[in-house]
Amino acid sequence: MGLFHPFRDHRRERLVQQPFPPEWSQIIDRNVFCCRCLHPDERKRLEDLVKVFISEKHFEGCGGLAVTDEIRITIAAQACLLLLNLHEVYFERLVSILVYPQSFDFEQEERGETGFVTVTNLPVSGLSSSTGAVVLSWPDAIRGARNSSDGANVVFHEFAHQLDLLDDAMNGAPALDRASMYRDWAQVLGSEYQRLQREVAAGTPSLISSYGATKPAEFFAVVTELFFEKPAELRRQHPALYDEFRQYYCQDPAARADECHAQGQRQS
Ligand SMILES: [Zn+2]
Repeated sequence: MGLFHPFRDHRRERLVQQPFPPEWSQIIDRNVFCCRCLHPDERKRLEDLVKVFISEKHFEGCGGLAVTDEIRITIAAQACLLLLNLHEVYFERLVSILVYPQSFDFEQEERGETGFVTVTNLPVSGLSSSTGAVVLSWPDAIRGARNSSDGANVVFHEFAHQLDLLDDAMNGAPALDRASMYRDWAQVLGSEYQRLQREVAAGTPSLISSYGATKPAEFFAVVTELFFEKPAELRRQHPALYDEFRQYYCQDPAARADECHAQGQRQS
């Protein structure tokens, strides 16, 4: 994708005219390793998105955590990497990011075959709700930011759910640019999802986490993590799937990593 897409909204446009605080830049350099291979124009666009994100979304510390710029910027920069080339998309359904000092309990209700409801408390590192909140454990969010090649990133995961939600359903199919893209998306993701389910059932190892086999929405979120964290492996092992994600996100992280590697710019 080419030049910076100007913000249509005047308030956002004014915001983008403000300089990016150098302390924020240092936080990104220090913590968010996936930003190290961005081209200068991409880095500028990311910073513009971060300014909008910080001004429009509400951060709230939970469990006694005091929210700092380090927390806000580390989370915002990872979330905004997903938006880099998506036109006029700002996680519109999202209002608040709740941040915990550790993984937190999530109460899950399950109705068994006999009709009884069992409630289990599971410690989780992140959650995404359709009612305007993302919940994150800060240690997990920063661990993901500082390791950009293990294929796991809770911020990418939860914000992928927020993108998926923009067309009103968290179903593994985000809003695509052109109507003609839906057929290929459904065909490629459908068959890759079923393949993962078969591999999980057979105990065959896969690049894609078995959690992706639980629901199409989780498949979209875990493949998003890989797309940004292990793009070369995803492209090599699942080329059609990689291509659908490349078209959706309008980014080619594998090509970016190749180029970055060739130039010896990779610092991580
Ligand atoms: Zn999920």
